[in-house]
Amino acid sequence: NTFQDLGLNEDLLHAITDLGFEKPSEVQDKAIPILLEEDTDLVALAQTGTGKTAAFGFPMLQKINVDSRTTQGLILSPTRELCLQITNELKQYGKYCKGLNVVAIYGGASITDQARAVKKGAQIIVATPGRMKDMIGRRLVDISKIEYSVLDEADEMLNMGFYEDITEILSHTPQDKNTWLFSATMPKEVSTIAKKFMHNPQEITV
Ligand code: AMP
Repeated sequence: NTFQDLGLNEDLLHAITDLGFEKPSEVQDKAIPILLEEDTDLVALAQTGTGKTAAFGFPMLQKINVDSRTTQGLILSPTRELCLQITNELKQYGKYCKGLNVVAIYGGASITDQARAVKKGAQIIVATPGRMKDMIGRRLVDISKIEYSVLDEADEMLNMGFYEDITEILSHTPQDKNTWLFSATMPKEVSTIAKKFMHNPQEITV
């Protein structure tokens, strides 16, 4: 398969050419057509380094409306480093998506600056659970119109004790959004969260 075959648009294909990606990785090959073509929940068993950020990032970038300033996509990740890494990748992948605004929210940095960035209109927020919950509590973010949510490295987030925070955050999102869960392993805690928050998820393993 080529990236064209997967159904990605010109803006994304242009960025992919710039980045020098020659062909989709396995997780991209499996996830992208499903996420582009269907409004479905997805559980993907994939390790880091497999290209999973693009596997959820490309479909999210293609599906959001960049003409709107509403926050439509929310990605939760366990650490500040990962949060920044995902944000940077999405900015590169979306460099030709005119009007795109991706904002990172994480602890240990100015909440005022992050709130200001969100207020300008972020279609996609990439966040660590603790800071995200804090900002929701202070009404500095509105995730009531989210259409796509990603739980990245779900096993790690649960290992780090973020179950309560994730539950609280998701309770502020619409019931009918799609949730895409990525995890390297599938312990009981991850299947519990999948059962609790997801509806008939499709499953892929790489
Ligand atoms: P990830 O698993 O998302 O952390 O991605 C690992 C690295 O692979 C990142 O630096 C990406 O830029 C790179 N990458 C993602 N997809 C591809 C691809 N299809 N071809 C080559 N490199 C890729």
